[in-house]
Amino acid sequence: MKDMTHALPDGRLFVAGDWEVGTGAEITSTYPHDGSLNLVLKGASRADGERAIARAKAAQADPAWRGMLPHVRARLLHRIADGIEANIERISYVQSRDTGKTRGETAALAASAVGTFRYFAAVLETSDDALTARRATALTASVHEPIGVVAAITPWNSPIASDAQKLAPALAAGNAVLLKPSSWSPMVSLVLAEICEAAGLPKGLLSVLPGAGREVGNLLVEHRDIGRVAFTGGTVTGRRLAAQAGEKLMPVSLELGGKSPTIVFDDCDRKLAIAGILFGIFSSSGQSCIAGSRLFVQRAIYDDFVAELVAATKALVVGAPDDPATQVAPMVCAEHRDSVEAYIEMARAEGGEILCGGTRPEGAAFANGSYLTPTIIAGLNNDAKVCREEIFGPVLVVLPFDDEVDVIAMSNDNDYGLACGIWTRDFPRAWRLAEAIRAGTVWINTYKQFSIATPFGGDGASGMGREKGRDGLRVWQRQKGIYADLTGQPHPWARIGETA
Ligand code: NAD
Repeated sequence: MKDMTHALPDGRLFVAGDWEVGTGAEITSTYPHDGSLNLVLKGASRADGERAIARAKAAQADPAWRGMLPHVRARLLHRIADGIEANIERISYVQSRDTGKTRGETAALAASAVGTFRYFAAVLETSDDALTARRATALTASVHEPIGVVAAITPWNSPIASDAQKLAPALAAGNAVLLKPSSWSPMVSLVLAEICEAAGLPKGLLSVLPGAGREVGNLLVEHRDIGRVAFTGGTVTGRRLAAQAGEKLMPVSLELGGKSPTIVFDDCDRKLAIAGILFGIFSSSGQSCIAGSRLFVQRAIYDDFVAELVAATKALVVGAPDDPATQVAPMVCAEHRDSVEAYIEMARAEGGEILCGGTRPEGAAFANGSYLTPTIIAGLNNDAKVCREEIFGPVLVVLPFDDEVDVIAMSNDNDYGLACGIWTRDFPRAWRLAEAIRAGTVWINTYKQFSIATPFGGDGASGMGREKGRDGLRVWQRQKGIYADLTGQPHPWARIGETA
């Protein structure tokens, strides 16, 4: 039997259950480690998207799917989870080829996708509709129905995890889903389509359409037959998409960027804090929405702590994604590295001091890869561009603070509101800060830990709506009230049967 462990997809798109060559612009996927070619594929065009939507609409309307009992649909989700679990090695390989992430990280993302499908299978089986308190002479109920045809638009940084977070609840809710992954990471979502197909997902209910955001992405947002879009990506794209959705009066959820503060008090456990800060900003080469990219250190320990942090950063192993020793792998592509380097130059121009990194690593092993060494910048204030804007790379900006009031003000003085890390041994203080800081997620003495059972999302420029958690199923459903008369009497207003 053919060993599929390292098999890339063959370049065809999954158009509502049919494997077809796309008719959109060509997408070239290369391995960020050395620039070698993964795959050239034809992306989805508008016409491909329109075909997929029409077929999805028919498939979703089929009573066999719409009316499928929750426990039966849950079994399907478990089969998809089994398929992902059996293919973790392949998914890890493919996503690493696509994005340059370490194999350890991509395997963990695949494992999280397994958990996501299992969780929503469980939520589906245990979610009840309700008989509501009666205020009328009728039996009153609130029930949930599928929305119909829905779309998921995902970014390149953690595709298998973002895909699963949308597909699992959307399918659990009984919808048909069109998934548009980023052109920078077209491959792993196509592998997921193979797995869903093999698990017995009825034809037409899933499409995977990598392609240009402005073409096929745009179509998914504007098309009248799409009833909801869940978007994960940049704030600029998210704003545009929300405006279009508003025009159509379509619900939309937005998981956008971040500029998350990490706060270190002088009483912290230093070993824990340094390990958490390094992981929070430099894992995934900082290409993570929740990266702890603004570090506030209490003034009394500032010099010491920052010196220790810089030494630990210099000791991080920069290397190839498939080397188990690697901590910092390449960035997704040279174009993205250029944009991160431009921010480092901007920081220099604003008077920032580069305490470490900010360079391309030397040596033949790195020559053709999009590598950048982990970078720490000091000497700026909270108004500097690199403190305000998301860089999405291995770049940490360090600032001192005096007290709680000071650090709360600086943390909240930013458009983003995605995440926050707090390092202190004083638990009541940590809790006070957790309540005071504008962020969708706060970590106390830890960072970047996740549970599928805990809702996730951002505020302000970091987006709106939440994914995950039990309510993560409900956002993919429509709620309907049903009143059933219990009197058997004509309405008195009509005066039926009254004599003149
Ligand atoms: P992006 O906004 O450029 O693209 C995201 C997706 O939107 C891609 O599939 C893209 O093709 C599509 N798209 C682009 N233009 C579109 C349009 N006009 N209409 C419809 N779709 C369109 O983002 P990116 O560079 O791929 O991803 C990085 C960003 O994602 C970062 O800002 C990061 O913080 C954010 N992100 C957020 C979360 C979160 O959960 N909050 C998670 C991961 C990444």
